[in-house]
Amino acid sequence: MSDCLFCKISDGEISGDIVHQNDSVLAFNDINPQAPHHVLIIPRKHIPTTNDISDDDRDVLGEMYLAAKQIAAERGIADGGYRTVFNCNSDAGQKVYHIHLHLLGGRKMGWPPG
Ligand code: AMP
Ligand code: ZN
Repeated sequence: MSDCLFCKISDGEISGDIVHQNDSVLAFNDINPQAPHHVLIIPRKHIPTTNDISDDDRDVLGEMYLAAKQIAAERGIADGGYRTVFNCNSDAGQKVYHIHLHLLGGRKMGWPPG
């Protein structure tokens, strides 16, 4: 998608603070971190919301969680704990319409989230 911010980061058209990447996924630090560790993990494929995930996307969703797990381990927050979140559409506060898995850690998380 030519006007999608996260597609542009994936394509290198806009710079991101990239922490992990392979052929199917990319992870970068959130520009407005909500925790000491706040990483966004995206598929390189443009998928607007989690409502748009299809059978063909099973592998890339798995890759996204494997990346989250690896990043959490690298940062030493795996054992203490962390949160992974997809926001879907306006009631959940989705702002960027290219799915992204938020990885948040390094502090105590409240529950339920606001
Ligand atoms: P969401 O509200 O779930 O759509 O989350 C969008 C996230 O993208 C927010 O946490 C923003 O801080 C983050 N964000 C927006 N623009 C950028 C950018 N250029 N680089 C990194 N993170 C960004
Ligand atoms: Zn996109």
